[in-house]
Amino acid sequence: MVIGRTLFAQRNGKIDTENAFKVGPHIVAVENQGKSVVRLNLGEPDFDIPKPIEEEVIRQLQANNTHYCDPKGLPALRKAIAKQIWETRQLQVSPEQVVVFPGGKPSIGFAQQVYCDPGDEIIYPSPGFPIYESFIDYIGAVAKPLHLSEELEFSFSVKQLDALITERTKLIYLNFPSNPTGGIATKEQLKEIAELINRRCGPEVRVYSDEIYEYITFDGKEHVSIATMPGMAERTIIASGMSKTFAWTGGRIGYAVFPTIEEADAFKNLNINYFSCVPPYNQQGAVEALENPAVMDTVKEMVTTFEKRRDWIYQALNDIDGISTKKPGGAFYIFPNISDVCEKLGIIKAYNSLPKKIQAKTSPSTLFQMFALYEHQVAVMDRRSFGKIGTEGKHYLRLSYAAEMSQLEEGVRRISAASKDRNGFKEFFEKGENFV
Ligand code: PLP
Repeated sequence: MVIGRTLFAQRNGKIDTENAFKVGPHIVAVENQGKSVVRLNLGEPDFDIPKPIEEEVIRQLQANNTHYCDPKGLPALRKAIAKQIWETRQLQVSPEQVVVFPGGKPSIGFAQQVYCDPGDEIIYPSPGFPIYESFIDYIGAVAKPLHLSEELEFSFSVKQLDALITERTKLIYLNFPSNPTGGIATKEQLKEIAELINRRCGPEVRVYSDEIYEYITFDGKEHVSIATMPGMAERTIIASGMSKTFAWTGGRIGYAVFPTIEEADAFKNLNINYFSCVPPYNQQGAVEALENPAVMDTVKEMVTTFEKRRDWIYQALNDIDGISTKKPGGAFYIFPNISDVCEKLGIIKAYNSLPKKIQAKTSPSTLFQMFALYEHQVAVMDRRSFGKIGTEGKHYLRLSYAAEMSQLEEGVRRISAASKDRNGFKEFFEKGENFV
């Protein structure tokens, strides 16, 4: 036996997680007390997959299309994706530049493995999808959060990005429409960002443009990809997938389009190493999703429903004393500022009284999140779930409106009740549990 050896390798302590999957057991704990929880925490559309996709997957299973297949993705699907990239962005790409993954998520961490050496710097939006930050320490790279500002409708200024770029910058994540804020970027903003990146970054720097919410935009605005800006196709990875657009999170089909075939093949090799290939019957379902026009009609109906809910929840949250929120331009999330509620309920004071060790694992918005769940039975996400570095003093929640109107109304009513319940918070805090 070698003294001092541990079961887990040290790197295990360096990877973070996606809290959306961690909050589930807390919801179950509350429900086990016989209470019903309104779930506004979910990052998936509350719709069924469009019928033609379902029928195609069933057809494929019946045809025994259930074996190993091309690790890069079925040629038919990669061809359909290349066609979609042309139709939506007027960018000519070869199917050989496309790689299919089990969901939108894997290519996020793979990008860090493929492009970054220890010490390289990674810029990513904060608040942002947690997996961007989660991997950085694990890879040995350096995290450079780009703090989105509420005043800029949760976008960022070119000056802010300029200040973060150094000679060690290797990868820059962008995500519009954004999870968790619903923010979108205008063509003018993207043009400015592109000009800056082209001016400041060498050709070895990659932009990972996470466009998984590309079809979920409101107010008649269409999604614009930064890859369409001059000089950007050569350095941008366009990432997207089927989970959100087609309400198909369980299908696990995502993809990325790379600037070169060489890069696509490096990702393909990671596919081979990790999971060999993506289920072919679902990939055929994805071909149907992209090629059958009836599917897109269903998507449009879903987006119209999201927009109506967005209008309602935006007003309803702003009507709550102590809560203010920006109007999201896309996705199905809203990101209210709850600073005044944290102050009013005594949450900031309570947080400051906690031992440093517990403070490091929670935040005022986390305390509100847990209070709202355990005492008012409404599940939402806290600010820390979307990037932790440099978020002290930022008090926000993410609510998903991928829930029926009756649930939204009840959920907002419960948040409103929680936001006034000073005594309730005091009692919750005094119990001394569920702070994290
Ligand atoms: N990127 C963003 C911005 C997301 O919000 C999500 C899911 O929530 C993903 C990627 C991952 O999507 P998938 O479920 O297809 O892996």
